Amino acid sequence: MTDTAACSPTSPTSLDPADPAAWEDFRAQAHRMLDDMIGHLRTLREQPVWRPIPEALRARWREPLPAQPVPVAELHRRFMAEVLPHAVGNAHPRFMGWVQGGGTLEGLLAEMLAAGLNANVGGRDQMPLEVERQVVHWMRELFDFPDTASGLLVTGSSTANLIGVLVARTRALGVDSRRDGLGADGLRLVAYTSAAAHGCVAQAMAIAGLGSAALRRVPVDADHRIEVAALRRMLAADRAAGLQPFLVVGTAGTVDVGAIDDLEALADLCAAERLWFHVDGAFGALARLSPRLAPRLAGIERADSLALDFHKWGQVPYDAGFVLVRDQAAQLAAFASPAAYLARHPRGLAAGSPWPCDLGPDLSRGFRALKVWFTVMAHGRERLGAAIAENCRLARRLAERVEADPRLALLAPVALNIVCLRYVGAAADPADGPRLDEAALDALNAELVADLHESGVAAPSTTMIGGRTAVRVALVNHRTVEADLDLLLEALHHFGQLRLRQARVSGAGLPILSDESSR
Ligand SMILES: *Cc1c(COP(=O)(O)O)cnc(C)c1O
Repeated sequence: MTDTAACSPTSPTSLDPADPAAWEDFRAQAHRMLDDMIGHLRTLREQPVWRPIPEALRARWREPLPAQPVPVAELHRRFMAEVLPHAVGNAHPRFMGWVQGGGTLEGLLAEMLAAGLNANVGGRDQMPLEVERQVVHWMRELFDFPDTASGLLVTGSSTANLIGVLVARTRALGVDSRRDGLGADGLRLVAYTSAAAHGCVAQAMAIAGLGSAALRRVPVDADHRIEVAALRRMLAADRAAGLQPFLVVGTAGTVDVGAIDDLEALADLCAAERLWFHVDGAFGALARLSPRLAPRLAGIERADSLALDFHKWGQVPYDAGFVLVRDQAAQLAAFASPAAYLARHPRGLAAGSPWPCDLGPDLSRGFRALKVWFTVMAHGRERLGAAIAENCRLARRLAERVEADPRLALLAPVALNIVCLRYVGAAADPADGPRLDEAALDALNAELVADLHESGVAAPSTTMIGGRTAVRVALVNHRTVEADLDLLLEALHHFGQLRLRQARVSGAGLPILSDESSR
């Protein structure tokens, strides 16, 4: 395609380059930016995972609205110097906190193309919508859902779980409840999920107007899976009390330890009790891409609705959540609304119903499907599945090393890719410092995680396991290799010994390192 002649006429108020020379400058600038980003990703491993934001820099980002243009080259310079070094670092192979995906190069390119097209994928007859339908088709295939199931790309699983709750609520109360509100029946609705479920499920109940207190938190077993017998008892007690159970939310990959509920048992129970079965598979669901891991998710194909994130184990750049609903009519009943300005027509741009705006709360929506399509097509099911399986293998390796090391303790079984461990010091060797009680170890491990962050070596996060602070290592990044685990453990021991030794010298409770010694 030639574009040299296509530059005129130019509106004096257009935001595009003003003349052919300015277009060429822009093109050269664009290439430099792409080169910088590819160079950054190529050299990630040699960079710190994270660098603290200098306060002077933070303060600089409170400028007044610029009245006049600033050259893009200057914006690019500021991005490289001020933004890029101080991001969270989840693209880095030693980012191991909070279950975040690493992104792909193809996703980067797709984001650029999608932004250039500037498609609004709320509806209308356009190929970007067919790309999204292709992604929906793949997810039906992956999870053995019927061809009639509907799906929608959303920001993330928080929204996907909310949509699951709203569809289940409308099913329970009838479509008139959208006009009339919850009514007396709505106030009696109760839902069930495990004590280890993600906080967004309770949040979804609150947003749905049902109240987070109407979400029963069922106890978990030693493997952090929902206790189905306890769920049965709670269900019976609620029915006896005149309440109306309507929904069970199972989890495929809990956020704290990566546990997978017994989804077959939950599906059986929901079928027998006529309850909506929703699965929060935010990161775990895509383990189905790996033939070795897929059997662990047995029962997920029986869900009424399923939430998952392409931006976690799918490695698609943020944001890319997804909800799949077995019965499209149920999803339409919860969201489709008649509006004159959204009228459909058999021909022209207004054809091709149903549209995404009929399946969720958003009307204007970006072209998220393109980065999913690029990532899946560029790597294929087998490679994406292999990356997931490798994360799980590395997690098992790390767990073995933790169990073999007297200075470390494993706090939870490793079901998938998350290892919860704790630095406990060398109880046998007094030279390493005093033995610490459990509360002091809690504080110590929280400090060690912050030490690791500030060192830039690795970035795990923390969680609570059985009331104790754990160092939580979640392996989600396709770039992580075993040598990264070596560096993590080396740094953990380094900071652990430093802090214990300092505690011995000071003789006073838990050591907090001074700023200089922690650098
Ligand atoms: C990450 C996560 C969520 C929330 O998903 P977002 O994409 O962050 O909105 C919900 N449930 C589980 C199990 C998660 O891991």
